[in-house]
Amino acid sequence: MKKRIFQSVAIISTFVVFITFFLTFILLYNHSFDTLKKNLIEETNKLKTIVETNPASLNNAALVSESRVTLIDVNGNVIYDSEKSDSPLDNHADRPEIISALKNGVGSATRISSSTHTKTYYYAIQLKNYEILRLSRNMDNFVSSLYPSIIRLLLLLPFIYLIGLLLTHLEVNRIIQPINNLNLQEPLNNVIYPELRPLLENINEHNAIRREFSANVSHELKTPLTSISGYAEIISTGLVQDINDIKLFSNKIYTEAQSLITMIEDIIKVSRLDEGKLEIKFQPIQFDEIIKSAVTKLTPYATKKSITIIERCKPVSGAGIKTVIEEMIYNLIQNAIKYNKPNGHVWVFLYEYKNRIVIEVKDDGIGISSEDLPRIFERFFRADKSHNQTIEGSGLGLAIVKHSVQLHQGEITVNSKLNHGTEFKIFLNKH
Ligand code: ADP
Repeated sequence: MKKRIFQSVAIISTFVVFITFFLTFILLYNHSFDTLKKNLIEETNKLKTIVETNPASLNNAALVSESRVTLIDVNGNVIYDSEKSDSPLDNHADRPEIISALKNGVGSATRISSSTHTKTYYYAIQLKNYEILRLSRNMDNFVSSLYPSIIRLLLLLPFIYLIGLLLTHLEVNRIIQPINNLNLQEPLNNVIYPELRPLLENINEHNAIRREFSANVSHELKTPLTSISGYAEIISTGLVQDINDIKLFSNKIYTEAQSLITMIEDIIKVSRLDEGKLEIKFQPIQFDEIIKSAVTKLTPYATKKSITIIERCKPVSGAGIKTVIEEMIYNLIQNAIKYNKPNGHVWVFLYEYKNRIVIEVKDDGIGISSEDLPRIFERFFRADKSHNQTIEGSGLGLAIVKHSVQLHQGEITVNSKLNHGTEFKIFLNKH
């Protein structure tokens, strides 16, 4: 995280420094140019007054000036030039500042000078005797006068950077320190950045789920273990002599132990699915075959409870983790039989819709109340405690189903009406 913040700050500051540099240069340049123009205009006006009063003083005045001074007659011929005096200059009648000065009395232009080959600003003014007095100044001199400042700034740059990095380092530490000192046992007691609130609430929720899970596991394990211990104690006291009674008690111990093993296996399964530790190896799957096989396995159980299974499956193939899909379908059909009424029905449908595989398991059984419905996928949750005391289960089946669906990036929906029945729908991608 520190590294990320550091990198971001470094990139942003480099960008800001260069933009600032660039903008400063442009502003300075524009400012210099404006000052130059202003000075040149002032100087031209002063020189005009001097020359008009005393034409002979032009050369002296031009010599002390920093600008180039040129005097041009009405035909564009150069009468005087403070810089190029040895070779005659060509006719200036076509220069824009001269054309303008002859017409309007004043004229100005910026261009690369044909004689000095540098960017030059010209200002021309017409004298009383109609001759044109023109002053010009080289812009490049101005730009080059900026160079020392630019170089100084460039030399300063590493120091500015170092100071910036040092400050960033201190600031990042200051920001991160409270995060390192978070109390994760009591996340909501931390008074820290509001942005972290959702994360802390999440951790708090996870802590609560974990605590509830441990409490549930202990409770679920304790019930069968208590009865195992009770039966074993009765046998060990020697009070039960009848061999049939001993058989009965041992059988009870065996059954309870078996359900304990199943529950522990289920807990391990949910944890594995939850942690994503399961080896994800998708293989081709014929979904109708899996459903048919589950229905065949569960038919004796349904018959015993006088329940009819109606299965309508289209041949649908796809990909997934076979054992996980098998268990998911088995769990749903088993529940539909388990939470049913005598002479009830279970419908199982399989089809494809919009390139997705849809598995529907429906029953006209006892249904789930609207208060319990949102919680049925939670681990150890069992709806309506009163009828559940007579129906065996640990509340883990649907948690396994939900995780199995998620593992396949699918979706599960449930609809239920108390006393009327329940409908589960699973949507899986074809892969
Ligand atoms: P278990 O069946 O072991 O209790 P599940 O996780 O499979 O656990 O189901 C959780 C709860 O959801 C069940 O205890 C039951 O109350 C309710 N339930 C699940 N399937 C159905 C169904 N088809 N009809 C009515 N209730 C159901």
